[in-house]
Amino acid sequence: MARVIAVTNQKGGVGKTTTCVNLAASLAATKRRVLLVDMDPQGNATMGSGVDKNVLQLSGYDLLTKRASAAEVIIPAEASGFDIMPSNGDLTAAEVELMNEIGREHRLRLALNGVRDDYDYILIDCPPSLSLLTVNALSAADSVLIPMQCEYYALEGLAALMNTVEQIKESVNPNLELEGILRTMYDPRNSLTLDVSSQLNEYFGEKVYRAVIPRNVRLAEAPSYGMPALKYDKLSKGAIAYLALAGEMVRRHGAKKTPAQVAV
Ligand code: ADP
Ligand code: MG
Repeated sequence: MARVIAVTNQKGGVGKTTTCVNLAASLAATKRRVLLVDMDPQGNATMGSGVDKNVLQLSGYDLLTKRASAAEVIIPAEASGFDIMPSNGDLTAAEVELMNEIGREHRLRLALNGVRDDYDYILIDCPPSLSLLTVNALSAADSVLIPMQCEYYALEGLAALMNTVEQIKESVNPNLELEGILRTMYDPRNSLTLDVSSQLNEYFGEKVYRAVIPRNVRLAEAPSYGMPALKYDKLSKGAIAYLALAGEMVRRHGAKKTPAQVAV
């Protein structure tokens, strides 16, 4: 059964979407079955995976409002090597429609139940706020992966985020765990980066991934071609860094083989 990981941080521009698309591609490259769920109305994960958010037959909106099942909404992101539950601005309308519904926090979790057996990893890209969409993601998730930039206010933001995780545990999802903390746009020449980094290691120990994601122009360029860096320039530092992250993640989970791999 899939491990469901919400990629979240209430701050925008820290690399959530970049991490979702590139980690999904890297896990798929290690023969894991991967589903990427786009829970951000901006639809950047959808576009970045090579699916045009402007011409969707069905989207996250239909899923959350029970107009369609997960199996109906999910499509292959062929250029990227994984499946996607695509979204666009209609997600905002779903949020409004759900406002007075009972059980509104659990719509995504219930919808994903039907497909959890089809994947090894389900990654959920969250919007940069604690909206009902994010709460749905955190309710559906087994764990949260937090991308962060090692800058001055990052630790404060992280404390606020861990608070949110605690609140979610007390209210909608008691089993929610911290999957890991990922340092993004990492620049080891910057002494502040190293300072923040060592504090992170002190507080969060092995939850901090050893793999770090450097600032790399290929990671910024790839979305405009609708593909992960691994497909756009597989030798780029960014692509290699996300492969290392996928490797570390899979090792942490005990290197469970998929049936397909066992058969080969
Ligand atoms: P979020 O989803 O948290 O808002 P994004 O993944 O969209 O953040 O990243 C914000 C911007 O920074 C995007 O333009 C993206 O292409 C760029 N970016 C993200 N990670 C990197 C990186 N490691 N190196 C260079 N640019 C990056
Ligand atoms: Mg984003």
